[in-house]
Amino acid sequence: MSRKAVKKSALLINADASKCAGCMTCMLSCSFRLDGTFNLAAARIQVRRLVNSPNEFEITFTDECDRCGVCVTYCPYGALTRQKRLFKNVGTGF
Ligand code: SF4
Ligand code: SF4
Repeated sequence: MSRKAVKKSALLINADASKCAGCMTCMLSCSFRLDGTFNLAAARIQVRRLVNSPNEFEITFTDECDRCGVCVTYCPYGALTRQKRLFKNVGTGF
């Protein structure tokens, strides 16, 4: 495993939709970080209410998400967490 792959694995973000309240704070904080405006359409995280399920949500990330973690910081319900490093010192020599 390359050094780059190890570092990337440490930056993954877990989304637990069962804890999501649909507040959109993550989307607003993401868009504010990116372009200084509160714009849901510009967010790299998308939260959608499931059809016919008023309290159930789907959380996805666009390919442009750079895993900065701002959305994790501002989620008030603990639905977003940083994934712990999966691989550590596996064949990397450091
Ligand atoms: S990790 Fe950063 S870029 Fe990705 S969705 Fe969250 S705030 Fe946006
Ligand atoms: S900030 Fe957290 S609870 Fe609110 S919509 Fe985003 S993931 Fe769901």
